[in-house]
Amino acid sequence: MSNQQLKDVGLKVTLPRLKILSILEHSEQKHLSAEDVYKLLLEAGEDVGLATVYRVLTQFESAGLVARHNFEDGHAVFELNSDDHHDHMVCVDSGDVIEFVNKQIEELQHQIAEEHGYELIDHNLVLYVKKKS
Ligand SMILES: [Zn+2]
Repeated sequence: MSNQQLKDVGLKVTLPRLKILSILEHSEQKHLSAEDVYKLLLEAGEDVGLATVYRVLTQFESAGLVARHNFEDGHAVFELNSDDHHDHMVCVDSGDVIEFVNKQIEELQHQIAEEHGYELIDHNLVLYVKKKS
């Protein structure tokens, strides 16, 4: 199935690509930095260098297989592209990424664009949060 996914986006099937795709598919955490992917590969006993991980993730991004999010503190995470839209919350203490969808926010954004004479094409909303003490 992963083989086909790679071929579908025009990428040759290579071992590092398959392994990294599998990590993205099966990891508990949906949003992973290149370092996270690298560590998970190490834990699984796979010999893939960090430079390769970076390169493959960038190739996946260009191919539309993964989405890259550049959060404010300079930490970039990758997640498999899916059709369902969601926004993100990032915990400034732990770096945890939480997904959410809010219908009112979605509608409000369309409305705001419209009020300014525009049509909303896309949006990117990130909330920076910290756990209430
Ligand atoms: Zn996400």
